[in-house]
Amino acid sequence: MIPALREINDVQALYLQFLKALKQAGFRGDTSPSYASRTVLATDNSIYQVLPQAVVYPRDVHDLQLLMELADREEFYKVVLSPRGGGTGTNGQSLTDGLVVDISRHMNRILEINPEECWVRVQTGVVKDQLNAALKPHGLFFAPELSTSNRATIGGMINTDASGQGSCVYGKTRDHVLELKTVLMGGALWQSHAIDDAELGEINEQSNRAGKIHRMVDGIERDKRALIDTKFPKLNRCLTGYDLAHIRDREKDGRFNLNNILCGSEGTLGFIAEAKLNLLKIPKCAALVNLNYDHFQDALKDAPDLMKAGPTSIETVDSKVLQLAMGDIVWDSVSEFFPQNERPVNGINLVEYTAESEEELDAALARFTAHVDSLIGQPGKSFGYTIARGHAQVNKIWGMRKRAVGLLGNVQGEQRPIPFVEDCAVPPENLADFIAEFRAALDEAGFAYGMFGHVDCGVLHVRPAIDMKDPEQAKQVRIITEKVVELAQKYNGLLWGEHGKGVRSEFAPAFFGELYPELQKIKAAFDPRNQLNPGKIATPSAASGLLKIDQVPTRGEYDRQIPVQVWDGYSDGVYCNGNGACFNWNPDDAMCPSYKGTRNRIHSPKGRASLIREWLRLLADRAVDPEAVARKSREQSFIIGLPGRIKNSLAKARGEYDFSHEVNESMQACLACKSCAGQCPIKVDVPTFRAKFLELYYSRYLRPLKDYFVGGLEFLMPHLARVPQLYNWPLKLKPVRWLLERGLGLADSPSLSATNLDRAMRELGVPYASRESLRTMGPAQRAKAVVIVQDAFTSYFDADVVADTLRLLKLLDFNPLVAPFRANGKPLHVHGFLRQFAQTAAGNSAMLNSLAESGVPLVGIDPSMTLTYRGEYKKLMGDKAPKVLLLQEWLAQHTDHLATNRNRLQRGSFTLLPHCTEQSNAAGSGRQWQEVFAALGMELSTQAAGCCGMAGTYGHEVANKETSRVIFQQSWEPKLSGDTSATLATGYSCRCQSKRFAGKNLRHPLQALLAQIEDSGFTVSTH
Ligand SMILES: Cc1cc2nc3c(=O)[nH]c(=O)nc-3n(C[C@H](O)[C@H](O)[C@H](O)COP(=O)(O)OP(=O)(O)OC[C@H]3O[C@@H](n4cnc5c(N)ncnc54)[C@H](O)[C@@H]3O)c2cc1C
Ligand code: SF4
Ligand code: SF4
Repeated sequence: MIPALREINDVQALYLQFLKALKQAGFRGDTSPSYASRTVLATDNSIYQVLPQAVVYPRDVHDLQLLMELADREEFYKVVLSPRGGGTGTNGQSLTDGLVVDISRHMNRILEINPEECWVRVQTGVVKDQLNAALKPHGLFFAPELSTSNRATIGGMINTDASGQGSCVYGKTRDHVLELKTVLMGGALWQSHAIDDAELGEINEQSNRAGKIHRMVDGIERDKRALIDTKFPKLNRCLTGYDLAHIRDREKDGRFNLNNILCGSEGTLGFIAEAKLNLLKIPKCAALVNLNYDHFQDALKDAPDLMKAGPTSIETVDSKVLQLAMGDIVWDSVSEFFPQNERPVNGINLVEYTAESEEELDAALARFTAHVDSLIGQPGKSFGYTIARGHAQVNKIWGMRKRAVGLLGNVQGEQRPIPFVEDCAVPPENLADFIAEFRAALDEAGFAYGMFGHVDCGVLHVRPAIDMKDPEQAKQVRIITEKVVELAQKYNGLLWGEHGKGVRSEFAPAFFGELYPELQKIKAAFDPRNQLNPGKIATPSAASGLLKIDQVPTRGEYDRQIPVQVWDGYSDGVYCNGNGACFNWNPDDAMCPSYKGTRNRIHSPKGRASLIREWLRLLADRAVDPEAVARKSREQSFIIGLPGRIKNSLAKARGEYDFSHEVNESMQACLACKSCAGQCPIKVDVPTFRAKFLELYYSRYLRPLKDYFVGGLEFLMPHLARVPQLYNWPLKLKPVRWLLERGLGLADSPSLSATNLDRAMRELGVPYASRESLRTMGPAQRAKAVVIVQDAFTSYFDADVVADTLRLLKLLDFNPLVAPFRANGKPLHVHGFLRQFAQTAAGNSAMLNSLAESGVPLVGIDPSMTLTYRGEYKKLMGDKAPKVLLLQEWLAQHTDHLATNRNRLQRGSFTLLPHCTEQSNAAGSGRQWQEVFAALGMELSTQAAGCCGMAGTYGHEVANKETSRVIFQQSWEPKLSGDTSATLATGYSCRCQSKRFAGKNLRHPLQALLAQIEDSGFTVSTH
């Protein structure tokens, strides 16, 4: 069995005292000194890993003020605080060995929208896409763009002065900030906006911290104006944090604006609690011209010429990014714009046009394409293009582009692209030459890399592929950075064009030169003792140093402690690079229901991946190989290990600490919905490593009884289904329900179907499939044959769906057969019964593969159970896993046949709420359902939806019931408020949950088709 992991890095006494004092002072938010919270917030998307002492989650401005008041007391002078938003920084900006102040959990409300005056007031934990979704009905948007828009917060954007695609037109975050409410050291709240000299004069008179700050900043602006003008490069991505060049906006009204010092300050000056932001009107029309090039360098060189045609933005991607996108879920939505011809595409420019009318857009496109057409065939020019039109199409391509950074982390092998020199900005006309030298340096050092970026403003993202576990390769971080700093300066550019400074603040003195001491004075005025995110941007005095890029602990240093064979065995989790795509804000996106339901980052794919890595490291520290322990425990009899498990469980009940309990708590809250496995750009697959963890955790501790019940359910069902009343009747009794809840921890257990599948099959004349019957089938029959693969949930709890599927297939002149029921094993896998899962999967595969030998396709009905064959089965047995199609995948191959019935059918219009596993692991499902419906002359629209919150038995577990309800309320409930007669759901779980929490009986898509067909007068022939 695994050992208890008791020795962890304890929280320092000073911080425990601080947390205690905070609570006593009336802090209303949450505080967590747990090792799990600290571990999960020890990383961002950078190469660094810094363990904080604790995490606090303020509820409101008052909480932030308390934090600053306490930190200003002498006894807590040594406490350091680092604000955190989405944690998507790429340079360790929010990492600290002190206290993390996570503003995103509670302070995420949109406070006021003023459409007439085009502004909004928000708490700074609001996510950028959340804001734009709320603004859309008003026809407005917050313009600064960034790839992490679905998880980065407004606070993070302000503090990194974020910008991205479209910045030539829309500028940076700073350009859209009207007012900031900042909590200063000591607890005072300061509201800043552009002010005239009279107001500045009054503030300068104040004796408080605000007065001191204003006097200092004003003085620097007056005294150093000439030096600032020469020192700050004239770039679209100007030198922010602290942006001395814009203390006064001399191009506009010349007013003094402290916001421009706060924007880009990376949490080193104060906590920004609220922001009033400027909004723009959403352009009515948009189009994207996707230009193909033979060489990436050609795409770069062509960009300045293309810019002359006045587009809104130009983005570039290289062939590596394109290749990675092809292997990703996103490809299905954009492939039509990137047709694969014989001529290889090695660079693409995405050129965007926006306009207020279609005529205006047409005219701009006509001018642009005429220009491009006239140059086609010339050396260094594009050799072809496609056009995406309308916001829906354009946003799909931007969606792919936004995933590019994440996708780069998914190259295979140990050398993976990492961020540290990824956002240099140079004048656009210098970009191609700068990149040529950059590439030469990487080629010389022998490192691969991927590239994409904003060519219109001279920013290119380059992530060299380095294995940070290898100390020799890790040394390259300094060597390459210094080379790139030199190159950036040579080409009049900056090392930090977009992603902020963080640990790379080491180079601030070199870039700011004689102005660096002025930054130090500003820091000292705000934070005299260097307590706010110390070591970044500037220090208040020469005595306290800036962080150094190779002196902050890296993730690689921790990861290399995990032995190679263990690392390889847990490859489904260890490569998480913290890009945060799993913190997706959108409730109608499948990723990740347990995070959305709890708002706790421990309960996210990143959280679980971080915990498993630390767990493996702690095991390695004790020389324990988890794979070997798992093998041994599989061989051991249940009885022999029992006394040990009882003893350890008693110790657990007494409250004895073991880090594995914290990991277990995080794993238990996972719905095993597999959205991470499909949607994470790195393909972090939590259910796979979760199952391995649970197997080992329960080699040391007793399992709950419910696990045995749920794991054995598939085997029990065929017996119970013979006399369903014997199962259903007691379920109606209160004492039985009470016992199930208290004893087994299961709530609202569903009843067995009244429909008996065997009987229904006999009535329909549908036989069971056998190897023999399939082999001896005549060619005509075989051409129309299909084997329906049963799963326990649909066959026994929702047998009508199977019967209706068979009936429909007969009506459509197919020849359906049904595979004899065998347990699939998914519930066993979910609960970590891996030995039993392997046995079940082997038996089931043997049966299904023997049926598949005939060439007749195997098709499953329930998405989640069917996808197990290409997920868990494939991982276990590789190509020997049976190939089972989803219904829509198979039907979409027969649209010609379906269309022969078209003219005889009633028309109908339906809406599909997709199953989360299906939409994230079987790209194209929605489209295939639409093709099937269209072939039969019916309309089907797919409505974006997140997880329903049920996921097999998760929602039935008492411990999860409330979170399950919250998840349901976030996405599904609002869609079921009206008439749902035309609303369809493919998942058994989804239909079950809709009935349970909304009282709505949704139909399976095939049931809707069946009703249309039967209403059209079709009848089944039973021969
Ligand atoms: C895949 C990927 C793509 C990216 N693409 C872009 C891009 O296109 N453009 C771009 O600009 N950036 C990009 N970034 C970088 C990053 O997403 C941005 O810097 C973003 O603005 C950070 O927001 P966040 O909420 O995650 O902030 P965090 O990372 O949590 O924090 C960033 C900094 O802000 C400070 N901070 C956060 N909230 C507050 C607050 N309320 N008060 C005071 N200080 C605060 C933190 O201390 C920290 O210093 C990308 C990152 C990744 C991983
Ligand atoms: S789990 Fe995936 S999506 Fe989430 S942070 Fe890790 S790599 Fe990114
Ligand atoms: S399986 Fe689902 S609930 Fe679990 S971590 Fe992945 S996305 Fe989240």
